[in-house]
Amino acid sequence: MELTNIGTIKELFARHGFSFSKSLGQNFLINPTVCPNIAERGGCGPGVCALEIGTGVGVLTRELAKRCDKVVAVEIDERLKPILAETLADFDNVEVIFADVMETDLSRLIAEKFGGKDAVVCANLPYYITSPVIMKVLESRLNIKAMTVMVQKEAAERICAKCGTRECGAITYAVNYYSEPKTLFRVARGSFMPSPNVDSAVIRLNIKNERSLSPNEEKTLFRLVRAGFSQRRKQLVNPLSAELHVSKADISEILSSLNLKPTARAEELSLEDYIKIAKTIL
Ligand code: SAM
Repeated sequence: MELTNIGTIKELFARHGFSFSKSLGQNFLINPTVCPNIAERGGCGPGVCALEIGTGVGVLTRELAKRCDKVVAVEIDERLKPILAETLADFDNVEVIFADVMETDLSRLIAEKFGGKDAVVCANLPYYITSPVIMKVLESRLNIKAMTVMVQKEAAERICAKCGTRECGAITYAVNYYSEPKTLFRVARGSFMPSPNVDSAVIRLNIKNERSLSPNEEKTLFRLVRAGFSQRRKQLVNPLSAELHVSKADISEILSSLNLKPTARAEELSLEDYIKIAKTIL
């Protein structure tokens, strides 16, 4: 079954009375090279299990299932049930769970379904929840090696930017704390049906296993980064003073004691700089 063929998809939809939901970010891949590429470069292979988020008609799911021992996919749209029963019928190593990924206990799911085997996350993410899904996967500290996801090109640029540059945002620091991000390849808007108004890119986050901060230090680190980037044009002392209820003079003193410019803005600090501040104020 060729799920990247527009005729096949239209026939499938007509038979099942299915129509795209814009609000669920349903832009399905129709470029035949993209899904095999995500599966290959996402670390799929014998002995590996994959968690997919958002199956659509199962075009990526099938590529994951061809290569992995087991695939578990979480899909919110129950209207896809009869379609997936048909498109995934050839595979006995796939289980689709119809649920909202944001409401799903992913740690439990991975432990229950993959039983400690090597695992990866692969997905063509719905754009409306790209950052929350990435952060949920990272913060849950899932037992996975890597997360390989399709995101909007601009989101990929921000996530894979270097911390301490104009291109970065709060998410850059969070992603870099938990993983090593890398852009794998670009995907043009014409690779999807319906075609979105933006281009996309596939990124891979290699998960770091070590935990360098205590849970409390982590919480403070992300509180500082979020506060700083909520007013990224202002000098960092202003948002930090407001967030921590500490005088600007005291914040300036802390920054100076760490050899950081009191006039610095959020985007000028490295991840290590924020870590040092978090440790100092705790
Ligand atoms: N993987 C398919 C592909 O590449 O063609 C579909 C990708 S489409 C961009 C995103 C998919 O995620 C849709 O099938 C949509 O229904 C599903 N989705 C949207 N929100 C979701 C959520 N909160 N939890 C789980 N799945 C969701």
